[in-house]
Amino acid sequence: MKIKDSIVMLGEKCEMELQEQFKQIDWMCEINSLKVLNAFHKYGVSEAHFNSTTGYGYGDLGRSVIEQIYCEIMGAEDALVRSQFISGSHALTVALFALLRPGDTMLSITGKPYDTLDEVIGIRDNSSSLKSFNINYEQIDLINNDFDYEKIIEKLTKTKIKLIEIQRSKGYSTRKSINIEKLASVIKAIREINKDVIIMIDNCYCEFVEEKSPLEIGADIIVGSLIKNLGGGIAPNGAYIAGKATLVKLASERLTVPGEGKEVGPTLGINKSLLQGLYMAPSVVAASLKTAVFASKLLERLGYKVEPKYNENRCDIVQNIIFDDENKLIAFCQGIQKASAIDSMAIPVPWQMPGYDDKVIMASGSFVQGSSIELSCDGPIRPPFIAYLQGGLTYQYGKIGVMMAVSNILGEDDE
Ligand SMILES: *Cc1c(COP(=O)(O)O)cnc(C)c1O
Repeated sequence: MKIKDSIVMLGEKCEMELQEQFKQIDWMCEINSLKVLNAFHKYGVSEAHFNSTTGYGYGDLGRSVIEQIYCEIMGAEDALVRSQFISGSHALTVALFALLRPGDTMLSITGKPYDTLDEVIGIRDNSSSLKSFNINYEQIDLINNDFDYEKIIEKLTKTKIKLIEIQRSKGYSTRKSINIEKLASVIKAIREINKDVIIMIDNCYCEFVEEKSPLEIGADIIVGSLIKNLGGGIAPNGAYIAGKATLVKLASERLTVPGEGKEVGPTLGINKSLLQGLYMAPSVVAASLKTAVFASKLLERLGYKVEPKYNENRCDIVQNIIFDDENKLIAFCQGIQKASAIDSMAIPVPWQMPGYDDKVIMASGSFVQGSSIELSCDGPIRPPFIAYLQGGLTYQYGKIGVMMAVSNILGEDDE
Protein backbone atom coordinates (compact mmCIF):
# COMPACT_ATOMS: atom_id res chain seq x y z
CA MET A 1 0.00 0.00 0.00
CA LYS A 2 3.03 2.27 -0.10
CA ILE A 3 2.95 3.00 3.59
CA LYS A 4 6.51 4.04 4.31
CA ASP A 5 8.53 1.65 6.52
CA SER A 6 9.64 4.52 8.71
CA ILE A 7 5.99 5.38 9.38
CA VAL A 8 5.08 1.78 10.23
CA MET A 9 7.95 1.67 12.72
CA LEU A 10 7.07 5.01 14.23
CA GLY A 11 3.44 3.92 14.39
CA GLU A 12 4.32 0.82 16.42
CA LYS A 13 6.34 2.94 18.81
CA CYS A 14 3.49 5.43 19.24
CA GLU A 15 0.97 2.68 19.79
CA MET A 16 3.03 1.23 22.63
CA GLU A 17 2.86 4.56 24.40
CA LEU A 18 -0.93 4.73 24.13
CA GLN A 19 -1.86 1.75 26.32
CA GLU A 20 -3.19 3.90 29.15
CA GLN A 21 -5.46 5.88 26.79
CA PHE A 22 -6.67 2.70 25.09
CA LYS A 23 -7.53 1.13 28.45
CA GLN A 24 -9.62 4.16 29.35
CA ILE A 25 -11.43 3.98 26.00
CA ASP A 26 -12.13 0.25 26.50
CA TRP A 27 -13.56 0.97 29.92
CA MET A 28 -15.99 3.55 28.52
CA CYS A 29 -16.92 1.06 25.79
CA GLU A 30 -17.79 -1.50 28.44
CA ILE A 31 -19.98 0.95 30.36
CA ASN A 32 -21.86 1.92 27.20
CA SER A 33 -22.18 -1.69 26.05
CA LEU A 34 -23.84 -2.50 29.37
CA LYS A 35 -26.18 0.44 28.91
CA VAL A 36 -27.19 -0.75 25.43
CA LEU A 37 -27.65 -4.38 26.42
CA ASN A 38 -29.70 -3.44 29.48
CA ALA A 39 -32.01 -1.36 27.30
CA PHE A 40 -32.41 -4.20 24.77
CA HIS A 41 -33.37 -6.51 27.64
CA LYS A 42 -35.71 -4.04 29.34
CA TYR A 43 -37.77 -3.63 26.17
CA GLY A 44 -37.49 -7.28 25.13
CA VAL A 45 -36.08 -6.76 21.65
CA SER A 46 -36.98 -9.75 19.50
CA GLU A 47 -36.86 -10.80 15.87
CA ALA A 48 -40.38 -9.44 15.38
CA HIS A 49 -38.94 -5.94 15.80
CA PHE A 50 -36.91 -6.38 12.62
CA ASN A 51 -40.14 -6.29 10.60
CA SER A 52 -41.18 -2.94 9.33
CA THR A 53 -44.01 -0.96 7.86
CA THR A 54 -44.65 0.72 4.53
CA GLY A 55 -47.06 3.48 3.49
CA TYR A 56 -48.14 5.65 6.42
CA GLY A 57 -46.22 3.50 8.86
CA TYR A 58 -48.86 3.17 11.57
CA GLY A 59 -48.13 0.77 14.45
CA ASP A 60 -44.50 0.10 13.64
CA LEU A 61 -43.32 -2.06 16.56
CA GLY A 62 -39.64 -1.94 15.64
CA ARG A 63 -39.73 1.84 15.35
CA SER A 64 -41.25 2.25 18.79
CA VAL A 65 -38.86 -0.16 20.48
CA ILE A 66 -35.92 1.70 18.90
CA GLU A 67 -37.25 5.00 20.24
CA GLN A 68 -37.79 3.51 23.72
CA ILE A 69 -34.24 2.19 23.75
CA TYR A 70 -32.83 5.57 22.70
CA CYS A 71 -34.77 7.14 25.59
CA GLU A 72 -33.38 4.62 28.04
CA ILE A 73 -29.79 5.09 26.90
CA MET A 74 -29.85 8.88 26.86
CA GLY A 75 -32.16 9.61 29.76
CA ALA A 76 -34.89 11.07 27.56
CA GLU A 77 -38.64 11.22 28.15
CA ASP A 78 -39.26 10.72 24.47
CA ALA A 79 -37.29 10.33 21.25
CA LEU A 80 -37.74 10.58 17.52
CA VAL A 81 -35.34 8.24 15.69
CA ARG A 82 -36.19 8.39 12.04
CA SER A 83 -34.83 7.74 8.58
CA GLN A 84 -37.09 10.56 7.35
CA PHE A 85 -34.41 12.87 8.72
CA ILE A 86 -32.02 13.08 5.80
CA SER A 87 -29.10 14.30 7.92
CA GLY A 88 -28.08 15.76 11.24
CA SER A 89 -28.55 19.23 9.79
CA HIS A 90 -32.10 18.31 8.82
CA ALA A 91 -32.90 17.14 12.37
CA LEU A 92 -31.43 20.36 13.79
CA THR A 93 -33.53 22.33 11.30
CA VAL A 94 -36.70 20.45 12.24
CA ALA A 95 -36.02 21.02 15.94
CA LEU A 96 -35.44 24.75 15.48
CA PHE A 97 -38.50 25.28 13.29
CA ALA A 98 -40.55 23.16 15.71
CA LEU A 99 -39.60 25.08 18.83
CA LEU A 100 -39.40 28.68 17.59
CA ARG A 101 -42.26 30.97 16.57
CA PRO A 102 -42.29 34.37 14.82
CA GLY A 103 -40.97 37.05 17.16
CA ASP A 104 -38.94 34.55 19.24
CA THR A 105 -35.20 34.85 19.71
CA MET A 106 -32.71 32.00 19.64
CA LEU A 107 -29.32 32.46 21.20
CA SER A 108 -26.21 30.44 20.39
CA ILE A 109 -23.69 30.49 23.25
CA THR A 110 -20.98 28.51 21.47
CA GLY A 111 -20.33 31.09 18.77
CA LYS A 112 -21.48 30.57 15.20
CA PRO A 113 -23.22 27.20 14.78
CA TYR A 114 -22.24 24.50 12.29
CA ASP A 115 -21.81 25.83 8.73
CA THR A 116 -24.89 24.13 7.30
CA LEU A 117 -27.10 26.09 9.73
CA ASP A 118 -26.10 29.47 8.23
CA GLU A 119 -28.96 29.41 5.74
CA VAL A 120 -31.32 27.74 8.20
CA ILE A 121 -30.91 30.54 10.71
CA GLY A 122 -30.55 33.27 8.11
CA ILE A 123 -26.93 34.22 8.87
CA ARG A 124 -26.66 33.74 5.10
CA ASP A 125 -29.70 34.95 3.21
CA ASN A 126 -32.25 32.34 2.32
CA SER A 127 -35.95 32.91 1.76
CA SER A 128 -36.80 29.78 3.76
CA SER A 129 -34.68 30.69 6.79
CA LEU A 130 -35.87 31.20 10.38
CA LYS A 131 -35.10 34.87 9.82
CA SER A 132 -37.59 34.98 6.95
CA PHE A 133 -40.22 33.90 9.51
CA ASN A 134 -39.21 36.81 11.75
CA ILE A 135 -37.27 34.65 14.19
CA ASN A 136 -34.29 36.49 15.64
CA TYR A 137 -30.83 35.13 16.13
CA GLU A 138 -28.20 36.24 18.61
CA GLN A 139 -24.81 34.81 19.38
CA ILE A 140 -22.28 34.86 22.19
CA ASP A 141 -18.80 33.59 21.40
CA LEU A 142 -16.78 31.32 23.65
CA ILE A 143 -13.86 32.85 25.51
CA ASN A 144 -10.75 30.78 26.19
CA ASN A 145 -12.64 27.66 25.13
CA ASP A 146 -15.29 28.15 27.78
CA PHE A 147 -18.63 29.90 28.00
CA ASP A 148 -18.74 33.66 28.38
CA TYR A 149 -20.75 33.56 31.61
CA GLU A 150 -20.84 37.31 32.08
CA LYS A 151 -22.40 37.95 28.68
CA ILE A 152 -24.76 34.98 28.93
CA ILE A 153 -26.09 36.12 32.30
CA GLU A 154 -26.46 39.70 31.11
CA LYS A 155 -28.28 38.61 27.95
CA LEU A 156 -30.67 36.32 29.83
CA THR A 157 -31.41 39.03 32.36
CA LYS A 158 -32.11 41.74 29.79
CA THR A 159 -33.58 39.94 26.77
CA LYS A 160 -36.38 37.44 26.33
CA ILE A 161 -34.75 34.33 24.88
CA LYS A 162 -36.84 31.36 23.78
CA LEU A 163 -34.12 28.87 23.00
CA ILE A 164 -30.42 28.49 23.69
CA GLU A 165 -28.43 26.42 21.22
CA ILE A 166 -25.21 24.78 22.38
CA GLN A 167 -23.03 22.95 19.88
CA ARG A 168 -20.69 20.57 21.64
CA SER A 169 -18.41 19.40 18.86
CA LYS A 170 -16.23 22.08 17.27
CA GLY A 171 -17.55 21.80 13.71
CA TYR A 172 -15.13 23.58 11.36
CA SER A 173 -13.91 25.97 14.04
CA THR A 174 -10.59 26.11 15.87
CA ARG A 175 -12.05 25.92 19.36
CA LYS A 176 -12.11 22.91 21.66
CA SER A 177 -15.23 20.79 21.97
CA ILE A 178 -17.48 21.16 25.01
CA ASN A 179 -17.29 18.37 27.58
CA ILE A 180 -20.10 17.30 29.89
CA GLU A 181 -18.58 19.06 32.88
CA LYS A 182 -18.50 22.46 31.15
CA LEU A 183 -21.97 21.85 29.78
CA ALA A 184 -23.34 21.00 33.23
CA SER A 185 -21.95 24.15 34.76
CA VAL A 186 -23.36 26.46 32.08
CA ILE A 187 -26.77 24.78 32.30
CA LYS A 188 -26.74 25.32 36.06
CA ALA A 189 -25.93 28.99 35.58
CA ILE A 190 -28.68 29.40 32.97
CA ARG A 191 -31.25 27.72 35.21
CA GLU A 192 -30.44 30.06 38.09
CA ILE A 193 -31.75 32.91 35.95
CA ASN A 194 -34.30 31.29 33.69
CA LYS A 195 -36.21 28.07 34.35
CA ASP A 196 -38.09 28.07 31.06
CA VAL A 197 -35.64 28.83 28.26
CA ILE A 198 -35.29 25.74 26.05
CA ILE A 199 -31.74 24.39 26.15
CA MET A 200 -31.05 22.56 22.90
CA ILE A 201 -27.83 20.66 22.30
CA ASP A 202 -26.21 19.78 19.00
CA ASN A 203 -24.76 16.48 20.23
CA CYS A 204 -23.18 15.34 16.94
CA TYR A 205 -20.01 13.24 17.37
CA CYS A 206 -20.32 13.19 21.19
CA GLU A 207 -22.53 10.17 21.88
CA PHE A 208 -20.89 7.39 23.92
CA VAL A 209 -17.62 9.32 24.30
CA GLU A 210 -18.41 10.33 27.87
CA GLU A 211 -20.61 8.53 30.35
CA LYS A 212 -23.50 10.97 30.62
CA SER A 213 -25.78 12.41 27.98
CA PRO A 214 -26.61 16.13 28.09
CA LEU A 215 -30.19 15.22 29.06
CA GLU A 216 -28.91 13.71 32.31
CA ILE A 217 -27.41 17.04 33.32
CA GLY A 218 -30.36 19.27 32.59
CA ALA A 219 -30.53 19.90 28.83
CA ASP A 220 -34.05 19.85 27.35
CA ILE A 221 -33.47 18.45 23.90
CA ILE A 222 -30.56 16.90 22.00
CA VAL A 223 -29.99 16.21 18.33
CA GLY A 224 -27.59 13.92 16.48
CA SER A 225 -26.97 12.01 13.26
CA LEU A 226 -27.21 8.25 12.69
CA ILE A 227 -24.38 8.27 10.17
CA LYS A 228 -22.22 9.30 13.09
CA ASN A 229 -21.78 7.69 16.52
CA LEU A 230 -25.10 6.04 17.35
CA GLY A 231 -25.61 4.47 13.93
CA GLY A 232 -22.53 2.34 14.61
CA GLY A 233 -21.60 2.43 10.91
CA ILE A 234 -24.55 0.19 10.12
CA ALA A 235 -27.52 2.59 10.04
CA PRO A 236 -27.96 3.55 6.36
CA ASN A 237 -29.19 7.07 7.18
CA GLY A 238 -31.29 9.03 9.66
CA ALA A 239 -31.00 11.17 12.76
CA TYR A 240 -32.52 11.53 16.19
CA ILE A 241 -34.10 14.16 18.41
CA ALA A 242 -34.54 13.24 22.09
CA GLY A 243 -35.52 14.96 25.31
CA LYS A 244 -38.59 16.42 27.01
CA ALA A 245 -41.78 14.78 25.74
CA THR A 246 -43.54 18.09 24.96
CA LEU A 247 -40.62 19.26 22.83
CA VAL A 248 -40.16 15.95 21.02
CA LYS A 249 -43.89 16.03 20.20
CA LEU A 250 -43.48 19.47 18.62
CA ALA A 251 -40.53 18.18 16.60
CA SER A 252 -42.50 15.13 15.47
CA GLU A 253 -45.38 17.29 14.29
CA ARG A 254 -43.00 19.48 12.37
CA LEU A 255 -41.30 16.45 10.77
CA THR A 256 -44.58 14.79 9.80
CA VAL A 257 -48.04 16.31 10.25
CA PRO A 258 -49.69 18.25 13.09
CA GLY A 259 -52.04 15.74 14.69
CA GLU A 260 -50.09 12.73 13.42
CA GLY A 261 -46.58 13.32 14.78
CA LYS A 262 -44.78 10.18 15.91
CA GLU A 263 -47.61 7.84 14.90
CA VAL A 264 -46.59 7.83 11.25
CA GLY A 265 -43.35 7.26 9.35
CA PRO A 266 -42.70 3.94 7.63
CA THR A 267 -39.40 2.24 8.43
CA LEU A 268 -39.06 0.51 5.04
CA GLY A 269 -36.79 -2.27 6.26
CA ILE A 270 -34.26 -0.37 8.36
CA ASN A 271 -35.27 -1.41 11.90
CA LYS A 272 -32.74 -4.22 12.11
CA SER A 273 -29.94 -1.94 10.87
CA LEU A 274 -30.76 0.73 13.45
CA LEU A 275 -30.87 -1.83 16.26
CA GLN A 276 -27.69 -3.56 15.16
CA GLY A 277 -25.97 -0.21 14.62
CA LEU A 278 -26.82 0.89 18.13
CA TYR A 279 -25.61 -2.46 19.44
CA MET A 280 -22.25 -1.92 17.71
CA ALA A 281 -22.02 1.79 18.51
CA PRO A 282 -20.07 1.61 21.80
CA SER A 283 -17.26 -0.38 20.19
CA VAL A 284 -17.30 1.59 16.94
CA VAL A 285 -17.03 4.83 18.92
CA ALA A 286 -14.14 3.23 20.85
CA ALA A 287 -12.41 2.29 17.56
CA SER A 288 -12.85 5.85 16.32
CA LEU A 289 -11.40 7.24 19.54
CA LYS A 290 -8.37 4.95 19.35
CA THR A 291 -7.83 6.00 15.73
CA ALA A 292 -8.01 9.66 16.77
CA VAL A 293 -5.61 9.16 19.68
CA PHE A 294 -3.20 7.27 17.42
CA ALA A 295 -3.32 10.01 14.79
CA SER A 296 -2.76 12.66 17.44
CA LYS A 297 0.31 10.91 18.79
CA LEU A 298 1.83 10.05 15.41
CA LEU A 299 1.36 13.49 13.87
CA GLU A 300 2.59 15.27 16.98
CA ARG A 301 5.68 13.07 16.89
CA LEU A 302 6.21 14.18 13.29
CA GLY A 303 6.13 17.80 14.38
CA TYR A 304 2.57 18.83 13.50
CA LYS A 305 0.20 20.78 15.73
CA VAL A 306 -2.68 18.61 16.89
CA GLU A 307 -5.83 19.16 18.91
CA PRO A 308 -6.66 17.42 21.17
CA LYS A 309 -3.32 15.98 22.25
CA TYR A 310 -3.17 12.21 22.67
CA ASN A 311 -3.40 12.38 26.44
CA GLU A 312 -6.18 14.96 26.75
CA ASN A 313 -9.68 13.95 27.80
CA ARG A 314 -11.99 13.75 24.82
CA CYS A 315 -15.65 14.56 24.44
CA ASP A 316 -16.05 13.84 20.72
CA ILE A 317 -14.41 11.62 18.09
CA VAL A 318 -12.87 14.45 16.05
CA GLN A 319 -9.10 14.88 15.74
CA ASN A 320 -7.66 18.10 14.34
CA ILE A 321 -4.31 18.30 12.63
CA ILE A 322 -3.32 21.90 12.00
CA PHE A 323 -1.19 21.83 8.85
CA ASP A 324 -0.71 25.55 8.15
CA ASP A 325 -0.22 24.34 4.57
CA GLU A 326 -2.93 23.84 1.97
CA ASN A 327 -1.05 21.14 0.05
CA LYS A 328 -0.42 19.03 3.12
CA LEU A 329 -4.09 19.20 4.12
CA ILE A 330 -5.07 18.05 0.64
CA ALA A 331 -2.42 15.29 0.53
CA PHE A 332 -3.47 14.02 3.95
CA CYS A 333 -7.14 13.77 2.92
CA GLN A 334 -6.16 12.09 -0.33
CA GLY A 335 -4.13 9.55 1.67
CA ILE A 336 -7.14 8.74 3.85
CA GLN A 337 -9.18 8.15 0.69
CA LYS A 338 -6.47 5.85 -0.72
CA ALA A 339 -6.75 3.64 2.35
CA SER A 340 -10.55 3.37 2.19
CA ALA A 341 -12.30 0.13 1.29
CA ILE A 342 -14.68 1.88 -1.09
CA ASP A 343 -13.68 4.34 -3.84
CA SER A 344 -9.99 4.03 -2.96
CA MET A 345 -9.15 4.94 -6.55
CA ALA A 346 -10.96 8.28 -6.34
CA ILE A 347 -8.94 11.41 -5.63
CA PRO A 348 -10.84 13.96 -3.55
CA VAL A 349 -10.32 17.63 -4.45
CA PRO A 350 -11.62 20.81 -2.81
CA TRP A 351 -15.07 21.86 -4.05
CA GLN A 352 -17.82 24.34 -3.36
CA MET A 353 -20.23 22.16 -1.36
CA PRO A 354 -23.82 23.31 -0.95
CA GLY A 355 -24.31 24.74 2.54
CA TYR A 356 -20.66 25.65 3.11
CA ASP A 357 -18.92 29.01 2.70
CA ASP A 358 -15.35 28.04 1.77
CA LYS A 359 -14.30 25.26 -0.54
CA VAL A 360 -14.14 21.97 1.35
CA ILE A 361 -12.15 18.79 0.71
CA MET A 362 -13.75 15.58 1.92
CA ALA A 363 -12.29 12.10 1.98
CA SER A 364 -14.92 9.51 2.71
CA GLY A 365 -14.55 6.15 1.04
CA SER A 366 -17.44 4.79 3.02
CA PHE A 367 -20.09 2.10 2.74
CA VAL A 368 -22.70 4.74 3.59
CA GLN A 369 -22.42 7.94 1.53
CA GLY A 370 -20.94 10.76 3.62
CA SER A 371 -20.78 8.63 6.74
CA SER A 372 -18.29 10.12 9.15
CA ILE A 373 -18.36 7.35 11.73
CA GLU A 374 -16.44 5.51 9.03
CA LEU A 375 -12.85 6.73 8.66
CA SER A 376 -13.11 10.10 7.00
CA CYS A 377 -11.27 13.36 6.86
CA ASP A 378 -12.30 16.78 5.71
CA GLY A 379 -11.47 20.41 6.03
CA PRO A 380 -12.34 23.82 4.65
CA ILE A 381 -9.68 25.33 2.42
CA ARG A 382 -8.81 28.30 4.60
CA PRO A 383 -5.94 29.05 7.00
CA PRO A 384 -4.76 27.46 9.21
CA PHE A 385 -5.64 24.50 6.96
CA ILE A 386 -6.97 22.12 9.58
CA ALA A 387 -7.78 18.48 8.85
CA TYR A 388 -10.80 17.18 10.73
CA LEU A 389 -10.24 13.45 11.03
CA GLN A 390 -12.89 11.19 12.47
CA GLY A 391 -14.35 7.72 12.50
CA GLY A 392 -12.98 4.24 11.97
CA LEU A 393 -15.22 1.18 12.10
CA THR A 394 -12.29 -0.76 13.54
CA TYR A 395 -9.10 0.58 15.07
CA GLN A 396 -6.98 -1.50 12.70
CA TYR A 397 -8.51 0.07 9.58
CA GLY A 398 -8.22 3.46 11.24
CA LYS A 399 -4.56 2.98 12.04
CA ILE A 400 -3.76 1.81 8.50
CA GLY A 401 -5.61 4.82 7.10
CA VAL A 402 -3.72 7.28 9.28
CA MET A 403 -0.35 5.75 8.38
CA MET A 404 -1.28 5.86 4.70
CA ALA A 405 -2.30 9.52 4.96
CA VAL A 406 0.95 10.41 6.73
CA SER A 407 2.96 8.57 4.05
CA ASN A 408 1.07 10.59 1.46
CA ILE A 409 2.18 13.95 2.88
CA LEU A 410 5.81 12.98 2.99
CA GLY A 411 7.62 13.49 -0.30
CA GLU A 412 8.54 10.48 -2.46
CA ASP A 413 12.12 10.28 -1.20
CA ASP A 414 11.46 11.93 2.11
CA GLU A 415 11.95 9.04 4.55
C1 LIG B 1 -22.01 16.54 11.46
C2 LIG B 1 -22.51 17.67 12.25
C3 LIG B 1 -23.77 18.22 12.04
C4 LIG B 1 -24.75 17.70 11.02
O1 LIG B 1 -24.17 17.38 9.86
P1 LIG B 1 -24.88 16.51 8.71
O2 LIG B 1 -23.76 16.30 7.79
O3 LIG B 1 -25.97 17.34 8.17
O4 LIG B 1 -25.40 15.25 9.32
C5 LIG B 1 -24.15 19.26 12.84
N1 LIG B 1 -23.37 19.73 13.81
C6 LIG B 1 -22.15 19.22 14.06
C7 LIG B 1 -21.32 19.78 15.16
C8 LIG B 1 -21.68 18.17 13.29
O5 LIG B 1 -20.49 17.65 13.55
